[in-house]
Amino acid sequence: MSVLLGCIADDFTGATDLANNLVRAGMRAVQTIGVPAAALDADVDAVVVALKSRTIAPEEAIAQSLHALRWLQAQGARQIYFKYCSTFDSTPRGNIGPVTEALMDALGCDFTIATPAFPDNKRTVFKGHLFVGDVLLSESGMQNHPLTPMTDANLVRVMQAQTRRKVGLVDYATVARGAEAIRERIAQLRAEGVGVAIVDAVSNDDLMRLGPALADMPLITAGSGVAIGLPANFGIVPSSAASALPKAGGLRAVVSGSCSLATNRQVADFVAAGRPALAIDPLQIAAGIDVVSKALEWAAPLLERGPVLVYSTADASAVKSVQGRLGVEEAGAMVERTIAAIARGLVERGVRQLVVAGGETSGACVQVLGIAQLQIGAQIDPGVPWCHARSDAAGGAGLHIALKSGNFGADDFFSKAFTFLE
Ligand code: ADP
Repeated sequence: MSVLLGCIADDFTGATDLANNLVRAGMRAVQTIGVPAAALDADVDAVVVALKSRTIAPEEAIAQSLHALRWLQAQGARQIYFKYCSTFDSTPRGNIGPVTEALMDALGCDFTIATPAFPDNKRTVFKGHLFVGDVLLSESGMQNHPLTPMTDANLVRVMQAQTRRKVGLVDYATVARGAEAIRERIAQLRAEGVGVAIVDAVSNDDLMRLGPALADMPLITAGSGVAIGLPANFGIVPSSAASALPKAGGLRAVVSGSCSLATNRQVADFVAAGRPALAIDPLQIAAGIDVVSKALEWAAPLLERGPVLVYSTADASAVKSVQGRLGVEEAGAMVERTIAAIARGLVERGVRQLVVAGGETSGACVQVLGIAQLQIGAQIDPGVPWCHARSDAAGGAGLHIALKSGNFGADDFFSKAFTFLE
């Protein structure tokens, strides 16, 4: 068993996004939560190691990424893919530049590309400038991000500020001419001493043209978009076999700690369909009421009849009011712990098909469920696949789990997800 593509992702939902793209392009893929202690226990084409290294200190991000690299190399990975956000979330300290450089040094390679382009998600790169929808990155709202404000859309400049290597550009005119032209441009840039090249791409066709030009590159750095053009380099074509998971069974539940607009609509849709739903009140948790036991008692008699929903999802004004009384971080952490404990209780009571809504909430649930590795299945809605994982809470047995980050999914997602598994 030898892995073809070894990926290092700088955050959890970004890792799923990448794994999902690889599966859709025909690769069998698993996502690991952090760097596994043991050898890979799965026969797959790609592994995505999910780190939480986007905003930590650069030295720490480098150490974790190199640890992931060594593990992936031990699994036989033939090519390494460093995945970051499609809005290139970083600061002049990093971590995209420093991690890229450290991986290049460790792999002994003198050239790599960098492109967050993901046209399916409206992230395009033109003349080295990143667009989010119709506007430049620096006007997209990302200029106000609390941790990684992106005030410059010129990625050549942004990347150059983070690396000692010379940064260049493979521009659109070249990409449009195809893989051979891209290869020639790369050779030219290398001869000029360029170590990292931003690559333009405004459509999936561009990414498919880029793919073959990357076949021999030991390291690729990108958002999740570039992944769609890589499986073909290994002779892999899209097939539904890549997303096959074991047969689903057991009870069904949804837990939601996301307060995004989409999740609010999804909760309302589930309630309107007359399905059983229980709201969790953060102020009750803060008052010391055993919300977890109450929720599990509520769910117990209902589970046999179909999916139940337990949610803290609330609209912006309710969230603000709770945050005003409890503090933003305290409220968040407390609700995450509660939802995760409920998820664990549900799995202990036989739930084997679980939908979790919320990025941070998903991280908390996966941890409490003792999940180390997710096998990626077919996507329910763009960016959200069903996964299969062994969980301590299920006594080491497998369960189906879907981790939906905030704004993903259609309004009927919480019902549709289960129909999809049938
Ligand atoms: P999303 O993917 O939509 O951003 P996350 O789970 O990442 O969702 O983040 C939502 C955050 O809001 C979590 O920290 C969660 O605990 C917190 N939260 C959930 N419900 C409430 C609520 N009713 N009041 C305050 N905070 C909440």
